[in-house]
Amino acid sequence: MIFNLSAQNTIANQFVSELRDKDIQVDRAKFRRNMKRLGQIMAYEISKKLDFRDEIITTPLGHSSIQLPSAYPVLLTVMRAGIPYFDGFLDFFDRSDCGFIGAYREESTEEIVVHLEYVAAPHINNRQVILIDPMLATGKSIVRAVQTLLKRGSPSHIYIATLVAAPEGIEYIKENLDLPHSLYTCAVDENLNHQFYIVPGLGDAGDLSFGIKL
Ligand code: URA
Repeated sequence: MIFNLSAQNTIANQFVSELRDKDIQVDRAKFRRNMKRLGQIMAYEISKKLDFRDEIITTPLGHSSIQLPSAYPVLLTVMRAGIPYFDGFLDFFDRSDCGFIGAYREESTEEIVVHLEYVAAPHINNRQVILIDPMLATGKSIVRAVQTLLKRGSPSHIYIATLVAAPEGIEYIKENLDLPHSLYTCAVDENLNHQFYIVPGLGDAGDLSFGIKL
């Protein structure tokens, strides 16, 4: 299942357009803020799929019944590009357990190799997991991240939360993830270029958020 936020016209389109616009995206604080705002919106969209239970709340004047989430999803993000988007999810799922995965891409024109160097994550067995990685390019880092996490248990469902997705990455995930999952994205773009960047995309999300790395 693919949920594409830009299938509907909402104010979220403005945040996506500001992330993409080459004259606006150079404002690093604004770039991170727009990522965070879209993380909040996506958290809200994914929350519609969670399980809820009845709860009675005592107010100063009486009692109010309401449905509340019965369990919070585990939030996992891929550093460093995922951090501002993750921050938006954490604003809404503020009781969630969180995990962090350090990944880097070894880039060449021939192929792309993804290395995972650091994993700090809670147990995920039978839990709902949101894997937060804003740029779904080849899909290799997400599949590598999930394979690494499966050594820690088997989630009941993985929500893959991206911001911009390339068709190649969507296809790779479909072919290589053999467990219950759904993909949430703010936009589906045209393709990857020869350096495996998403076109039209927005550029390097990590560099735009935090500066160019060595
Ligand atoms: N990572 C990015 O930051 N941008 C892309 O286009 C692809 C991967």
